[in-house]
Amino acid sequence: MEQIVYTHSPAVRAFLAKEIGMLVNGRLIAAESGKRFETCDPADGKRLTTVPQAAASDIDLAAKAAHAAFHGEWGSMLPATRGNLLWRLADLVEQNADQLAELESIDNGKPAAFARAVDVQWAIDHLRYFAGWPTKIDGENLPVSQPDMHVYTRKQPVGVVGAIIPWNFPLLMCVWKLAPALAAGCTVVVKPAEQTPLTALRLGELVIEAGFPAGVVNICTGFGEEAGAALVGHPLIDKIAFTGSTAVGREIARRAADDIKHVSLELGGKSPNIVLPDADISRAAAGAAQAIFYETGQVCSAGSRLLVHRSILEPMIEALKAEVAKINPGRGTNAATTMGPLVSKEQHDRVKKYVEIGRNQGAEIVCGGRPIDGDLASGFFFEPTILLNVPDDATVCQEEIFGPVLVVQVYDDLDELIRRANASEYGLAAGVWTRDLSNAHKLAAALDAGSVWVNCYNSFDPSTPFGGFKKSGYGRDGGRAALDKFMHTKSVWMNLA
Ligand code: NAP
Ligand code: MG
Repeated sequence: MEQIVYTHSPAVRAFLAKEIGMLVNGRLIAAESGKRFETCDPADGKRLTTVPQAAASDIDLAAKAAHAAFHGEWGSMLPATRGNLLWRLADLVEQNADQLAELESIDNGKPAAFARAVDVQWAIDHLRYFAGWPTKIDGENLPVSQPDMHVYTRKQPVGVVGAIIPWNFPLLMCVWKLAPALAAGCTVVVKPAEQTPLTALRLGELVIEAGFPAGVVNICTGFGEEAGAALVGHPLIDKIAFTGSTAVGREIARRAADDIKHVSLELGGKSPNIVLPDADISRAAAGAAQAIFYETGQVCSAGSRLLVHRSILEPMIEALKAEVAKINPGRGTNAATTMGPLVSKEQHDRVKKYVEIGRNQGAEIVCGGRPIDGDLASGFFFEPTILLNVPDDATVCQEEIFGPVLVVQVYDDLDELIRRANASEYGLAAGVWTRDLSNAHKLAAALDAGSVWVNCYNSFDPSTPFGGFKKSGYGRDGGRAALDKFMHTKSVWMNLA
């Protein structure tokens, strides 16, 4: 606990010192049972604080509040007013950006500077982008082939949204669901991940400060099997927007089918990052390292399979090793850190196990492959790891590791490349490094991926849809596509005769 007193800023210390409440019906409250659970700092495994542990009864209160708000003040609020509230929330996130970034860093492990520049900044940008939408949601006049008929469509919100959030980008994923849902006119109950509840709870305080009517946004911390399952099963929830693992997403879709709830799923990936023989090797290596080692590899769209043309394998491996040598693992609040720990002991054990499996299936370990000890031994740190010479059907080539582990595959020609790049049950993203325009466009069309990045990787913008093919899910975050998934289309027929 001493660490907390000496390293945290006053704003973070003050937040951690109080009894943090969850947002239900416009108030910060404890769970009905009074139960709380701990969240820890993955840099040392130590407890940071406790947060309310919502159960089915708390989810019931939140869902009822969200339902009442949807049919009350929020439902009749003018679009411009709804947009202004989103903009006001963006301003408040910006005013509290350093505190939020530090909270994200200590709860998840990521470097605080990255949290400020990416997680928090992108959350602000996302809120502002969607703040512009309520005043631009329109319908169509349709040219039906029937006399004296005036037919038009209206876009209407689906109702109450249950948003279930993972731990890798806790604030940002929360905003990715909240901003379009609110812009569309829905109300929301959010269930953050148990490992990283802090920034969502702080956001709940800012939602009150922004002046949203009670019940429009509810944020209930708790466990997936308890609070999450209650949300999926609640009769007043009209839609589940989920980001997380494919296993849990599948289960949610199955359970939501009982009530024909709308579901959107942003799931896992095993994304191919492809280097063509003509690529700029140093750029490709820097991009490939960033694609897998950013956020300690805990990114759904991580470029976890690097497909390299045989003719450039050696220089690519050398350039990758040079990139790895620049990585500075450490506590996220240390300004020099460029790679934090994994989020939990569970995740750490999982990554270690996968590397072991890879070794047993014949992988050559180019670098890394072990937990980091020494000063960092008490945290969940793992070395940036590169595996070579692994068969395509090996576990480490097929399953999502969600850690700093890159698998390098070697290919000879384009057709073979496309077939092997697509030989995955996932289809979230892909990268292509080349100076050949024609091959770049061919690959962009042929790859099974919701996003293809050419000479870049993990580029995001609030305007741009992001989501999966195949078992990476369905539905899109970002852009107009995100808005659409929170709206019904109603057709109105008027007989003018
Ligand atoms: P997870 O275990 O699927 O958890 C995600 C969320 O679902 C958490 O809030 C979790 O609650 C909740 N949950 C668990 N079981 C549930 C249930 N039975 N009913 C309702 N909710 C339930 O995934 P994770 O381990 O947190 O995150 C890692 C995975 O998410 C990776 O596979 C990654 O690829 C994927 N991911 C995808 C994207 C994307 O955009 N496609 C983004 C980020 C992460 P608890 O944490 O409290 O159990
Ligand atoms: Mg934590």
